[in-house]
Amino acid sequence: MPFMKILLATNNRHKLREFSDMFAPAHILFPQDEGTDFFHEETGFTFHENALGKALTLYRLTGSPVLADDSGLVIPALDGEPGIFSARYGGEHLETPERNAYLLEQMKGIDSREAFFVCSLVLLIDEYRFISVQETVEGEIIQKMQGTGGFGYDPLFYLPQMNCTMAELTDVQKHQISHRGRAARRIRTCMNDLLTKENQDL
Ligand code: IMP
Repeated sequence: MPFMKILLATNNRHKLREFSDMFAPAHILFPQDEGTDFFHEETGFTFHENALGKALTLYRLTGSPVLADDSGLVIPALDGEPGIFSARYGGEHLETPERNAYLLEQMKGIDSREAFFVCSLVLLIDEYRFISVQETVEGEIIQKMQGTGGFGYDPLFYLPQMNCTMAELTDVQKHQISHRGRAARRIRTCMNDLLTKENQDL
């Protein structure tokens, strides 16, 4: 991947760190760091609609290539909740540990603990050209929080194949298996392909 600058359509520092690792040597930047205040109201009904909406909003503000993701936790036994509302599940005002406690409360008495994370990722090159992928990683919701790494629902998301939660993985391990890592690798492959075939700079 050539040296390039990509703005990330988020205000979430954890995502910035994860994407910076995954897209190196490209520079992934916060809109604020480039002097742009970014806000996008998520009105979509799917992860993809929200990711594309965020990307277009930031592109229209800056005219620069943009990376945008919309992600969340899906629990089939809760009819897909928290889903696209993962960031505000149980109320916007909740801090992460309270939100995780709220989720555990909703899972009380439910035997089926299967869950998966979703990451919908869009790399927008200009108003009419984008690459879009969506990936998942499967796991289970455990009974109490475990681990201090990662962010969000990671301490509750148990990975049977690793015998630990997402919050107990190193950053490198999380990138290897996570929904975001998988989506990022697919986007990178498409970018390389695009650049090789068209021999042009994004
Ligand atoms: P978004 O910023 O609207 O995409 O919201 C994503 C929300 O989904 C986050 O605030 C977390 O609650 C949850 N989420 C997404 N990805 C992860 C992850 O990798 N670990 C834990 N929680 C995540």
